[in-house]
Amino acid sequence: MEQLQNLIGGELRGAINGEWLDNIEPATGKVYSQIPRSTAADVALAVQAAEKAFPSWSTVAFADRAACLRRWAEKIARHSEALIHAESKDNGKPISLAAAVDIPRAQKNLEFFAGAIEHFASEAHIPADSSHIHYTHRKPLGIVGCISPWNLPLYLFTWKIAPAIAAGNCVIAKPSEITPFSAFMLSQWAEEAGIPKGVFNVVHGLGNEAGQAIVEHPQIKAISFTGGTATGAHIAQTTAPQFKKLSLELGGKNPAIIFADCDFDKALATTIRSSFANQGQICLCSSRILIEDSIYDRFKTALVEKVKRMQVGDPAEKGTKMGAVVSQAHRDKILHSVEKAKEAGGQILCGGYAATPPNERCNSGFFVQPTVIDGLGPKCAINQEEVFGPVITLQRFRDESHAIALANDSMYGLAATIWTQDIGKAHRTASSIESGIAWINCWLVRDLRTPFGGVKSSGLGREGGFEALRFFTEPQNVCLPTHAN
Ligand code: NAD
Repeated sequence: MEQLQNLIGGELRGAINGEWLDNIEPATGKVYSQIPRSTAADVALAVQAAEKAFPSWSTVAFADRAACLRRWAEKIARHSEALIHAESKDNGKPISLAAAVDIPRAQKNLEFFAGAIEHFASEAHIPADSSHIHYTHRKPLGIVGCISPWNLPLYLFTWKIAPAIAAGNCVIAKPSEITPFSAFMLSQWAEEAGIPKGVFNVVHGLGNEAGQAIVEHPQIKAISFTGGTATGAHIAQTTAPQFKKLSLELGGKNPAIIFADCDFDKALATTIRSSFANQGQICLCSSRILIEDSIYDRFKTALVEKVKRMQVGDPAEKGTKMGAVVSQAHRDKILHSVEKAKEAGGQILCGGYAATPPNERCNSGFFVQPTVIDGLGPKCAINQEEVFGPVITLQRFRDESHAIALANDSMYGLAATIWTQDIGKAHRTASSIESGIAWINCWLVRDLRTPFGGVKSSGLGREGGFEALRFFTEPQNVCLPTHAN
């Protein structure tokens, strides 16, 4: 059985305590590898290595740091087939999705932040009388922690470590214990890419052990975290007394607003994709479908007819569109939410149960039928709590203001999609919705320069572009007179 390793100070090694955790393939339910069960001792060792590496890395020229990230990106490109299969096996997502989204985007993240650091200029301010110059010196923070979730494993892991390293920090990274494989593969190529020992460290293990130790360590100056809202709140409590910089990318309960004047076929096709891509396990997936009264029945009928035809498949097979959900515990949590919705009077229009495994290999895998629920109001648990699976609800609205009220009736505020051909209405609705992203007549279109993040319980701060480089640096105002004396 393959045993994945931590990367600490350039050395691939197990946990100091010699303990291992099983890593399960969601499509088969079988253990296929193990990861080190790291603790605070491993994190301390990684911090020591990072402390040694920081003085030199923080003064490496931007162009040289960028060159390291580009060489690393080339490794992803060269090993993309292996990474695609590894990501699919580890997470349960179809290989077609890992090939179209996860792995190309991981490569792009490294390339993008290589370019971004080369264009990240300081600001200068000169008063009207030209007596002084103020300039902003952006310094790397030192050692930073990057903690990522399981749903887009390498995609979100690289989205954090790339800006952190580009900005001159040393990183202690922890991928999700549920999907550690692709981060392990990447760690094996760090040295060949030219990343000096100790600049990039990976500590595998459980959230409340290795993750907690990263968050608590006094030498770790900032935490960039993506994961659940409850975990984010706990991390905020832990880091607040140490005044650590904190970036939190958390859960969502994203509305898709379907106005009667939308392009019906496009809205329907994209809403199905935005609801069920990656088995509904993308933080940006739509989960509350809000439909205008006059087209409610037509849209519902067309949607359910299409969703009924969606089949789960073996993620390892080329044609599969819907794979397994990530774990047994997660499958049970999804099905429990559906049961609660039934008890609350929800009408299950399709799905509602675990799906029959697609083949013998997958007999013990974790599959859920794509599920559509009707008839529940905005206050119901299924319309308030994140399910993070292939489960959507339908709600009816009267007019623009009712749609906005329903969309905003949530503790979350990550993303929304708006479907209308009236451009004025589209802009008004977008600006009235409490969310970090509003997509009009599209979904999941990303430009890595844009600010990414959520409002309310969906997070704190923004990632992406220069926002990420600002997060991973500390600005110092330096002031000097322009004249002698
Ligand atoms: P999670 O909060 O359980 O775990 C995320 C990471 O945090 C894992 O690496 C885990 O080991 C670690 N962790 C857990 N407890 C910790 C602790 N006490 N201290 C430090 N680290 C700890 O989340 P998950 O189940 O892996 O991911 C799913 C969630 O992530 C969903 O809520 C989803 O919406 C959210 N998500 C958000 C975004 C976004 O950009 N906003 C993107 C993807 C996923």
